[in-house]
Amino acid sequence: MEFKFSDRLKKLPPYLFVEIDKAKRKAKAEGRDIIDLGIGDPDEPAPKEVTEALYKAAQDSKNHHYPLDQGSSVFRERVAKWYKERFGAILDPEKEILPLIGSKEGISHMPFAFVNPGDATLVPDPCYPPYKGGTILAGGTPYIMPLLEENNFLPDLNKIDKVILKKAKIIYINYPNNPTSAVCEKGFFQDVILFAKKYNLIIASDAAYSEIVFDGYKPSSFLKVEGAKETGVEFHSLSKTCNMTGWRIGFVCGNEKIIAGIAKVKSNVDSGVFNAIQMAGIIALDTAEKHLNRMNKVYQERRDALVDGLNKLGWPVKKPKATFYVWARLPKNNKSSIEFAETVLDKAGIIITPGIGFGENGEGYVRFALTVSKERIDEALDRLKKVL
Ligand SMILES: *Cc1c(COP(=O)(O)O)cnc(C)c1O
Repeated sequence: MEFKFSDRLKKLPPYLFVEIDKAKRKAKAEGRDIIDLGIGDPDEPAPKEVTEALYKAAQDSKNHHYPLDQGSSVFRERVAKWYKERFGAILDPEKEILPLIGSKEGISHMPFAFVNPGDATLVPDPCYPPYKGGTILAGGTPYIMPLLEENNFLPDLNKIDKVILKKAKIIYINYPNNPTSAVCEKGFFQDVILFAKKYNLIIASDAAYSEIVFDGYKPSSFLKVEGAKETGVEFHSLSKTCNMTGWRIGFVCGNEKIIAGIAKVKSNVDSGVFNAIQMAGIIALDTAEKHLNRMNKVYQERRDALVDGLNKLGWPVKKPKATFYVWARLPKNNKSSIEFAETVLDKAGIIITPGIGFGENGEGYVRFALTVSKERIDEALDRLKKVL
């Protein structure tokens, strides 16, 4: 028999982290000591209280059934309380909050609700890959908004082609940003809202890193800005906030109709988040502040060690205000981010992510993830001395 992949599958770019994982496994199989500064997955466990809450909730057989499509009402109410306390944004837990199986799930399903074949979405570039992937799977075409250092890695809305704007349905924004670690001011959210109203676009704000912050910086929420709820939604996740990447729990909040669209897609493809995990998610939000106070100190110490160390090696890199990434322009005389990352893996046993993996405008950069101990970062700097 002969099976052929669908056209939409063939159009997907290769998922970068799968390729990097292959290289990593090969290096490990050869018995080498690898320092992995590649994928953004917190090295520390979820808070102990959260694991205990899961254990307790898993023992209650009431939680063993299919979860409700719209998610547990107690979890939704806890999310509403968190949004109010953390951002001062008021949300209706009945209609404006939807639990997700990790925010990646909601982000990649959203275009199925709003994008027809032939439509476009506006995606930042470099970016988190599912904005493009979800668009392509739904039959749409991602249109790239370059994030350039000279614009502080904000998209230039005036440069977007007017012909594309007629076909565009969704605009993605992501601050604090992965991979550039850039942040935005409230004024940027206001600009995007005006722009979205003018061109009838849905705003998808990805706030996965709103809690991973340094030097007293505190990002606000898109949903706190006037007009936000008329135009868009915000995705959040417990993955980075509470070291829960493997648990698969996130949520999308905002415009009622957009939430209803995502919920309708989901009701046809999945059956929601395990109730016991939603119960543990409540405890995660209860303990988030205490947990983050500690984790952000840990990340900040690692950030300082890495950035100061790279600068000492003659590689000028700036300290980010948020996210656990350091986005670095390639050292002098290097052009290809893939070649540079390969050299660093071969010669120093260090995995870093080539910028081009996040899109063409990521070329010329590499991303370091601060998800290993300070001791390992010091060791990585020692090894980098020989490569640079
Ligand atoms: C990690 C990450 C997410 C969150 O993914 P989950 O599916 O919630 O684990 C979302 N957006 C960006 C930009 C990320 O880096």
